[in-house]
Amino acid sequence: MKRILAISNQKGGVGKTTTAINLASALAFMKQKVLLIDMDPQGNASAGLGIRKYSVSTGTASVLLNHTTIADAIQQYPHLPNLDIIPACLNLIGLPIELVNAPRQNFRLKDALQKEAQEYDYVILDCPSALDLLTINALTAAHSILIPLQAEYLALEGIHDLLRTIHHIRQNLNTHLTITGIIMTMVNQQTNLSQEVVSQTQSFFGEDLVFESMINRNILFGEAPSHGLPIHLYSPRSNGSNQYTQVAKEFLFREGKLRSMNEKFEHLEHHFGRRGEYG
Ligand code: ADP
Ligand code: MG
Repeated sequence: MKRILAISNQKGGVGKTTTAINLASALAFMKQKVLLIDMDPQGNASAGLGIRKYSVSTGTASVLLNHTTIADAIQQYPHLPNLDIIPACLNLIGLPIELVNAPRQNFRLKDALQKEAQEYDYVILDCPSALDLLTINALTAAHSILIPLQAEYLALEGIHDLLRTIHHIRQNLNTHLTITGIIMTMVNQQTNLSQEVVSQTQSFFGEDLVFESMINRNILFGEAPSHGLPIHLYSPRSNGSNQYTQVAKEFLFREGKLRSMNEKFEHLEHHFGRRGEYG
């Protein structure tokens, strides 16, 4: 049975897309079959995997408008056999307006995914930086939500709006939506502020909800997307690569798919060992 995970936070620039791409990639390396759906009109997740929205005729908007099936919108990511993507297309920009009076406007994605994409272990939804109809479609279709938070000043600002939205979705659209956890991104181990924000977040959400695995600030996350590669292919032995692998392991552990965080992934180590020259 596939699990649908929305990566969401209405604040921009907190690491949603970076997390969507690199969690998807880490899970694909762990032999999970993953479909990444780009729900953001900006199309950064698509671009980060080498697909420019200007060249996409059949993408997320086509699916939400019922112009095509999920199967016809899927593209295979050429560098990782277990990773597929439905890219953003230009029509995504006007979509919330186009759907204003449409039937089941909040359920478009859920309806489309209902009978399709059964072969996937995980469907990952990269949400836009807004609590708009696209995010509502994602949260209505999802089993759970993962919230990236930037470990910097004002990290928790606006979080009440997100929690209120989750509450509203649970009450009205998707009773079973759960919060998988919070991922701290762009952590700077050297600054007190970063550490303070992490502990503030832990006391706000409770320690259980905040992932132990965190992502440090790392310049490689800015570089990898321009090559159309996830961090695991761009720089397999980097700290950034290891940290998203840890996040993926913790995610699978929380999903009950791993017995312990130390369970070995020999094929993964084999891969990273083999491509060690990339440092
Ligand atoms: P969002 O999708 O929430 O808007 P992005 O994932 O696009 O956020 O990240 C915003 C910017 O920060 C991008 O330029 C990205 O490359 C950069 N970035 C993301 N995570 C990190 C990190 N851990 N270290 C350094 N830069 C990062
Ligand atoms: Mg984004």
